[in-house]
Parts: sequence; structure tokens; C-alpha cells
Amino acid sequence: MTQLALFGGPPVRTTPLPRWNTIGAEEQVAARRVLESGVLSGYVGAWSPAFYGGPEVQMLECAWAAYFGVRHAIAVNSATSGLYAAIGALGIGPGDEVIVSPCSMSASATAPLIYGAMPVFADIDPATYTLHPDTVERAISARTRAILAVNLFGHPADLQALRQLARRHGIALIEDSAQAPGARYQDRYAGTIGEIGVFSLNCHKHIQTGEGGICVTNDDHLAERLQLIRNHAEAVVEARPGIDLANMIGWNYRMTELTAAIGGTQLEKLPQVLEHKMRIAESLRAALHGIDGLTPPTVRPDCSHVYYTFPLQIDAQRLGISRAQFTAALHAEGIPIVERYVKPLYLAPMFQQRMAWGRDGFPFTADSGTTTARRYPVGLCATAERLYAETLCYLPWCAYDFDTTAAQQVRDAIYKIVEQRDALRAYQP
Ligand SMILES: *Cc1c(COP(=O)(O)O)cnc(C)c1O
Repeated sequence: MTQLALFGGPPVRTTPLPRWNTIGAEEQVAARRVLESGVLSGYVGAWSPAFYGGPEVQMLECAWAAYFGVRHAIAVNSATSGLYAAIGALGIGPGDEVIVSPCSMSASATAPLIYGAMPVFADIDPATYTLHPDTVERAISARTRAILAVNLFGHPADLQALRQLARRHGIALIEDSAQAPGARYQDRYAGTIGEIGVFSLNCHKHIQTGEGGICVTNDDHLAERLQLIRNHAEAVVEARPGIDLANMIGWNYRMTELTAAIGGTQLEKLPQVLEHKMRIAESLRAALHGIDGLTPPTVRPDCSHVYYTFPLQIDAQRLGISRAQFTAALHAEGIPIVERYVKPLYLAPMFQQRMAWGRDGFPFTADSGTTTARRYPVGLCATAERLYAETLCYLPWCAYDFDTTAAQQVRDAIYKIVEQRDALRAYQP
């Protein structure tokens, strides 16, 4: 066994991993088709067939809805916009609460604030990093209007339990599936279990169009409201009597024809992308079983994991080295590893200083029914805080092309580190 690269030995991997790239000749053909048509956007912000976008947008929506087995797909310019539109479409507003996860990208928690509603954080399950139904149930109040669950890292949340909880309380389930396109949940796709699911096509995701997002729903009424919010609802509602005006301040969330055309070719590639990401990750997961103090990803029996990232948990007591020592050593071996996932979202200045809209605390201080949930004390979500502070790290599985060779090198590097952990104990990262 050679010396650890951290202490001057030869690294397991000597070349950088290639960046993950799904953009190729097919996207060039699609982009050229749009450029030659001269129509870069088909939208009109007035009541006409073009209110729903141009041919490429509508083709992408049809293909997306067919792939995921839903009635409606609504293309938008990002998943962030999609989450905002989802809150808006459900009519959620000031005085309402939405239960969110502390362990996600920031927009998963800011979406309710856009409509003046309160994000209420529930804690996560330490095995799947997704909302724990028990903590969600405890967070439900008379003001709760929705649960916004995140299918994090590529693994579905406990969607059946959340679905039942939502039904029982007469509230909606929204799924942020930005990191889990194509993940299976029982006999369906993650993202299609809740009232509205949101996918991302940004450049970091499994498949991408640079920027982009898609909402899906089986509800005709919600689909119409999403389409209205996407395209300046306030300017068209007068011509269509009967529309519920709540949250009908529309935005411009329209996707361009160029983006949609590329999105169509990307969707065609999704099955191969998933096969590649999942097969190799599953072999690594199997290879990492049985190391005391190192926990590979959990995959629930009725789910599939599509590995946006490959999460690992380090138990410093049992492994004998800290997460920081482990990640520093792995990095030195030539393996990209990220030491921690995002800080629990409520610890961000916006929540800590309760300043979102203007300077006077709106909507945090807007009414007198202040609960502890509207303050965001340290310790609010103990599991999320502990994972962030001490245990959770991850391989950025969709930032690089972790091929079969790379996965073997990850395994070799981890075994090398575990075998030589005594040498690492005194190392100060
Ligand atoms: C990437 C991501 C988003 C935001 O996607 P954009 O398309 O960049 O707006 C939202 N939620 C999660 C969990 C994400 O990973």
C-alpha cells in the first residue's frame, strides 16, 4: 500500500475527472433548426394561441408530459421560477404557511416568501436527507397550506406518507424534483406524486439547457394558473372572466424556443444518462458497504436513486477520523469530494435577520400570531444541523463524469484512506 497522497505519496487518480457534458451534435441540430426559423420566442403576452408559447415550447411540454406520465407539463425559465409559480398557482399568500426542508437549494425555502407566506422548516430523515413525515406533521398548523418536499440528491422523499399527511389536513404537496428527474417512486416518477412537481434544466443538472425548468401537474385548473403566472397573468385576466384573481400578478417566466428545442433533445438522452449515472453509482454503493463509520447512500426498496450527488456520511467516532480529515485525504488522492452540503437554509441572513421584503420584517412579523416556527433559532432542525456540521459530504456525481474507472478509483482511494487512517488522526485540515 502506497503512502497517502496527502503526505506526499502517489495519488490514486492523477488526471482531473472530465466535466459531465450532455451537449452534442443533436443539440447543434436542434439549435440550428430554431435559428433558421428566425423565431427565437413564440410567446405573446395576450390572449391568443401564442399565449402558450411557440412550437418548440409546446413540443417539449408534450414530450415531457408523455415521458413522466402526467396530463400537463409547463415549461418555465428555471426551476426557481417553477417553484414560485407553484406557490402562486395554489393561491398561497400572506398569513399562510408552507412546510419546507432546511436541506436544499435556497429557492426551495424562499418560494413561499415570494407570495408573502411563511416557510416553516421541518427536519429531515438522516438516511435519505428528505423531509421526515413525523417532523412535518408536528409543524402543521391551522395556517399550513402546503408541504414543499425536495427529492434531494436524486432520491425521492417519503412521498406516500407526505401525500397522506397532506390529504388528511386538506393541504397541497409540491415536489421539488430538480435533482431527481426520472427517479422512481413505487410505480410512478418522483415529481408526479404531488399536486405540482418542478424539474430543473440548469447547467448543473442531469440534463440541461443552460437555464430552464418544467412544472408538471395532473390538475387542469392548476395547469392554467401556472400558464397564467408564467406569462403576465394580470394583463390577460380581464379577457377571461371567472379566473380567481389570487396571485394573478404574472411574471415573465417564458422559455425561449432555442432552450425548448435543446430541452427536447436532452429529454431524449435522459434514459441513457440515468443508466450511466445509476449503474456506476450502484456498483460503488455496493463496494462501500461494510466500512464501519462510513455510510453509503440509502435507497428505499420502493424507490430508485438517480444520483444527482453520491452522498456519504462520516461517523468520526467509528471511522476514527473526522469528515474534514477524510475529505482532505480523498481530495489529495485526486477524487473531487465536497466536504459539506449547504448550510441549513434558515441559518441564512434573510431568516436570521427576518428581512425579506423591505426592512420592516414582512412577512415574518406581519401578524401577531408569531410562533417559534417564525423565528429560526439555531437547533430548529437538529438532524440537518448535525449532518451539515459533522457528517454529510458528497461526490458531485453530475458535475463530473464518474465513469467505471473513476468509481473504482473512488473505492480504491477510500480503502487506502481507511487502511491508513491512523496516519491521519493528527492531521489538521
Ligand atoms: C437546482 C435546484 C433548484 C433550482 O433550479 P434552477 O433551475 O437553477 O432555478 C431548485 N431546487 C433544487 C433542489 C435544485 O437542486
